[in-house]
Amino acid sequence: MPRNQGFVLASRPTGVAVADNFRFFEKDTPAIADGQVLVRHHYLSLDPYMRGRMDESKSYAASQQIDDVMIGGTVGEVVESRHPKFAVGDKVVGMGGWQTYSVSDGVGLNKVMPGIPIQAFLGPVGMPGVTAWYGLNKIIAPKPGETVLVSAATGAVGSVVGQLAKAAGARAVGIAGGAEKCRFAIDELGFDACVDHRSETFAADFKAALPNGIDGYFENVGGKCFTLASRRLNDFARVAICGLIASYEGAETSSLDDLRILLVKRAKIEGFIVSDHLPLWPQALGELAGAVATGKLKWRETVADGIQAAPAAFFGMLRGKNFGKQLVKLI
Ligand code: NDP
Repeated sequence: MPRNQGFVLASRPTGVAVADNFRFFEKDTPAIADGQVLVRHHYLSLDPYMRGRMDESKSYAASQQIDDVMIGGTVGEVVESRHPKFAVGDKVVGMGGWQTYSVSDGVGLNKVMPGIPIQAFLGPVGMPGVTAWYGLNKIIAPKPGETVLVSAATGAVGSVVGQLAKAAGARAVGIAGGAEKCRFAIDELGFDACVDHRSETFAADFKAALPNGIDGYFENVGGKCFTLASRRLNDFARVAICGLIASYEGAETSSLDDLRILLVKRAKIEGFIVSDHLPLWPQALGELAGAVATGKLKWRETVADGIQAAPAAFFGMLRGKNFGKQLVKLI
């Protein structure tokens, strides 16, 4: 019997999440029943939404239950199967959680395409990629020559937003934490400009990078990024509210200082949750997979080693220590 290791939610955070909110476990993997598979996880995805699930609050999704395995996207390999649609050796993506093995009845478990590194199905060819695709194409819908701004520009979602905006003929401007991330956004991802929100000259740099204002803003962060961006919107600007990570643990508030901006600019602000748009996922994933396979869509990852490293990597990701998609390698 292989041993399964992982983390459950032990308690809810009061403010900033801490290691004691998680509890490690190790136990035998269960015997599988008819219609089930046992999956050995190769990678776990760490995502900002997990922080919200740790709280007991009304949201678009139910809270994570105490003592349940932490929710999380995983890619791995079927190692036992009593399911007609899956064979031993199949590479699959699903929601296996913060653990090294999971048992699945096949619901929400999908085989991955060959020819693309398996962990990409947790990043540019997975939920973060589809998030970027939806917010950019369906809310911002950039026209050639327009300016699209995205915060957390080198992260899992933001890096795809900038590259899709460029492919649509727009000018892509990023906001990222630190000079190295900004250099990467310009030199590797092809952004036209990138501003460092940690710099003392952030507000002035921001203005200088946006001489023609903002036609589309893809918001991942909130806080001061949103305040500055809302003041530079052009007429008929579109703002896609994807995430407000600066506010998830109360560090910064995210608010619009004057609704009049929306009126005089005839601007639109729309929040979205990618899981509300499942019918569009196949189209989005097809386009993203094609772009990754041909090298047109670049991506970067930060990989923590082993399940024991998951909590620290998660806290790091919430504070910008990740550079690209945050993963945990489990094999
Ligand atoms: P990232 O890979 O972008 O990692 C999070 C990044 O947020 C950090 O690396 C850091 O980048 C940035 N950040 C954290 N705190 C701050 C802060 N106070 N000020 C500025 N930047 C900060 O994560 P994802 O790409 O997975 O997610 C990006 C956003 O998209 C999140 O808000 C997430 O909740 C949201 N999301 C929403 C979905 C939806 O359906 N609406 C689906 C998926 C994600 P840096 O160092 O550059 O500051």
